[in-house]
Amino acid sequence: MTDWKTRTKLVHAGARRSQYGEMSEAIFLTQGFVYDTAEQAEARFIESGPDEFIYARYGNPTVRMFEERMAAIEGTEDAFATASGMAAVNGALTALVKAGDHVVAARALFGSCLYVLDVLRRFGVEVTLVDGTDLAAWKDALRAGTRAVFLESVSNPTLEVIDVKGVAELAHKVGATVVVDNVFATPTFSRAIEMGADVVVYSATKHIDGSGRCLGGVVCGSRDYVRKVLEPYMKHTGAAMSPFNAWVMLKGLETLDLRVRQQAESALAVAKALSGHPKLSQVVYPGLPGHPQHRIAMEQMGAGGTVVTLELAGGRDAAFRFLNALGIVKISNNLGDARSIITHPATTTHQRLPPEQKALLGITPGLVRLSLGIEDCDDILADLTAALAAA
Ligand SMILES: *Cc1c(COP(=O)(O)O)cnc(C)c1O
Repeated sequence: MTDWKTRTKLVHAGARRSQYGEMSEAIFLTQGFVYDTAEQAEARFIESGPDEFIYARYGNPTVRMFEERMAAIEGTEDAFATASGMAAVNGALTALVKAGDHVVAARALFGSCLYVLDVLRRFGVEVTLVDGTDLAAWKDALRAGTRAVFLESVSNPTLEVIDVKGVAELAHKVGATVVVDNVFATPTFSRAIEMGADVVVYSATKHIDGSGRCLGGVVCGSRDYVRKVLEPYMKHTGAAMSPFNAWVMLKGLETLDLRVRQQAESALAVAKALSGHPKLSQVVYPGLPGHPQHRIAMEQMGAGGTVVTLELAGGRDAAFRFLNALGIVKISNNLGDARSIITHPATTTHQRLPPEQKALLGITPGLVRLSLGIEDCDDILADLTAALAAA
C-alpha cells in the first residue's frame, strides 16, 4: 500500500471488510463493543490490537478506516479523527503544551484558531504572534523553551503562503514541534510533511467532505505523537468523530483529488479572468505569478489552491451589492464545497476581530473570499462578471 499513488490510496487505503465482504465501507454505528470474557475485556484495556476496540470515544472501525486513509495520504505513521476541525486544532496544540511553555504562531489565523491560542494563554502558556511570511520574525520569536509552532500554510482569508520548510528548519533548531493547519492546501496539494511539518491538521468539514454535509477534523503525525501525546487527551476529553461522519468523509476522500484539481483549475481561470477588472482593487491568488509568495506556493503545493480572494474597489457597499447579485455562487461561510461559495469575512467569519487587527491582517471592507466549486467554470465566470457589473 505504501507504494500506491495518492489517487489509489484515496479509494482503497485503510479499508476493512467484515465477514460479508461489503464493497462500500460499513458504518459501524456503535458506541461500544462486546467482549467474550471478563479476561478479554481486561486484556483489551491494557493493550488493544489493531482490530480490537473498546469505546467509540477511543476508536471505532469506521473512524479507524478514515484515520488510516488520511495517514496514508498525508505520509504520516498515524492519524486521529476528531469531531470538527477546531477539535483537531485544539487537541493538536493543547495535548502538547503545559503552563510555562512557549508557542509561536503566525498572526494571520482563522478566528477560532486565535481563540484557542487565547485559551492556552489563560492556562499559563506564553504565545507570540508573528508575521508568518517573515522568516526573520520567526527566528526572533523562537527560543529554547518554544514547545510548538502553529501556522496555517495558506492563511484564511488573505491567502498569505507561509514557507513551511523555512519555518520548520528554524523551529527544529530549538526543538519545537511544527503544527500546520493545512485546510487551504488540501490533502491533494499537501507536501507539508516533506517540507518539515511534524503534525498536520485538517478541518474535514471542508474539501474532505466536499459536499457540506458533516463536521469533522483529523490530526496526522508520528505514531508516538498520535498515540502517546494526542490520543490520551482526545479520548478523555471527548471530541471524537462520529462513525457516521467518518463514513461520509471516507466517501468524500474517494473523489477528493478529482474535485480539488477541478476547483483549483477554476480558481486559476477566475483569478486570471478577473485580474485588472475595473471594479476590483485586488485579485489575490497564490497561483498568479504576481502573488508575493507565488514561488513558495508552487514549491509546497504545486498549485494555487481552490480559493480566490477579491477586493471590491467600492468597499463594503460594493461588496454587498456584488454578493447579492450572484445566482450560482452562494453566500455562505464554508469552503471546499462542490458548490461555489462566497464570504464577506469582515462582517462574518472575522467579525469578532477589532478594527486594528482586521486592518493589520488586510481584512478590508471590500474583501470577499471565493471558494470555487465544481460547477462548469464558464457558468461561474458568467455569474461573477454579471454580478460585478451590478456592484
Ligand atoms: C474551517 C477551518 C477550521 C475549523 O474547522 P471546523 O471543521 O469548522 O471546526 C480551522 N482552520 C481553518 C483554516 C479553517 O478554514
